[in-house]
Amino acid sequence: MTPQEIIRDAYGIHRRVALVASFQIESVVLIDMAAQVVGEPEVLTIDTGRLPQATFDAIDAILERYSIRLRVLAPDPQDLALLAAEHGTNPFLRSVELRRHCCDIRKTRPLSAALEGYDAWITGLRRDQGATRAATPISAPDPAHEGIAKIAPLAEWTRDQVWAYARERGLPLHPLYAQGYTSIGCAPCTRAAQPGEDERAGRWWWEQDGVKECGLHFSAAEVKA
Ligand code: SF4
Repeated sequence: MTPQEIIRDAYGIHRRVALVASFQIESVVLIDMAAQVVGEPEVLTIDTGRLPQATFDAIDAILERYSIRLRVLAPDPQDLALLAAEHGTNPFLRSVELRRHCCDIRKTRPLSAALEGYDAWITGLRRDQGATRAATPISAPDPAHEGIAKIAPLAEWTRDQVWAYARERGLPLHPLYAQGYTSIGCAPCTRAAQPGEDERAGRWWWEQDGVKECGLHFSAAEVKA
């Protein structure tokens, strides 16, 4: 099936579908495809509190082009206060465990709370983004969110296919791509990729060991770890 067919099926099968967007290129491709199916897709995004300004510029460019129903999620203020009080304002630099704790508070928990009431969520994961994503199912029950299907319409697409679609459709792209970024998350945890590095090398680049996965895609076991 093509990504467009997968998206059409998702909206046909499931009653309420959330498209979860980080406003990287995959998100924009999915929004473009979903808008052709449902007109005004529901889009969830998380303002982690540490995003670069360029991400907000990217969001505004999308809002100018599409009539999406955007929900901007945010971490619990009490969780953030406790995190800072116990571990400082940049805990992710101190250990892998604290980085994962920060991602849990700023990403995993707000998303989990927001997904209640939905039947499925759409994500821009691709299998060729790295080892942690190599076995990404196109559609399957989400082990981290009971009773909700997780759908990855671009799972089988390569990076080149995503970029080709975006260029063909003239999609508005996140400004940091023009500065050498190949994967974009929170400002302190993202840098531009160096020549020859893999696509996600600019994320948590100081970590030498452990699984470098975004908090949006932690498994249930990882969330509890
Ligand atoms: Fe925290 Fe960095 Fe994860 Fe953002 S990417 S939630 S700042 S650890």
